[in-house]
Amino acid sequence: MNNLKDLTICPRCQTLHKKLPLSKKEEAHCANCNARLYKNYTDLPQRALALSLAALIFFTIASTFPIVQIDFAGSFSSVNLLDAIWQLLHEGYIFMALFAFLVLFLFPLLLMGTLFIFSLLLVMKKRVFAKWVLQFMTLLSRWSMLDIFFVSILVAMVKIYEYAHIHFGLAFWAMAFFVLLEIYLTRYIKIEQYWDLWEEV
Ligand SMILES: [Zn+2]
Repeated sequence: MNNLKDLTICPRCQTLHKKLPLSKKEEAHCANCNARLYKNYTDLPQRALALSLAALIFFTIASTFPIVQIDFAGSFSSVNLLDAIWQLLHEGYIFMALFAFLVLFLFPLLLMGTLFIFSLLLVMKKRVFAKWVLQFMTLLSRWSMLDIFFVSILVAMVKIYEYAHIHFGLAFWAMAFFVLLEIYLTRYIKIEQYWDLWEEV
């Protein structure tokens, strides 16, 4: 009887596989549909620690500075993430403002914050709290939607572009880097890989 920890399921075709130890940088693919199952990252805790710290710095910039500055017929306006959410609240869209605050600000911030704490605990070889941190992180990963917001800004900019001059602010580029890092750390590197790391500590 196989131990359940030694099994993995293909995310695309749900075929069950037995996990095999991999050599450095080697990837395991599904025998049925060739989807990527897992990879042997030799330095995952250190890599996650450095990149989640970088993501937190980008996040601070992305939520502080203007995302875009729009020059429309001589009138100039700039948009900042928290100001935009505050504006929604001010105009009476309370639930929309609350939802935006959670999925665009609080959850992405906590997601990278928990990954930072988790990888720091692993680097320090401390197992205490690491499981709770990881459980919280797994939950947050489903509710962080800054990537969707970023794509919707791009779509909106394409529409506005015909009528107004647009200057991309510092926060725009910081948000782009944040979204790329978040996708890399929580989707390209699958959350299951962090669970595997926790098992090994
Ligand atoms: Zn498959």
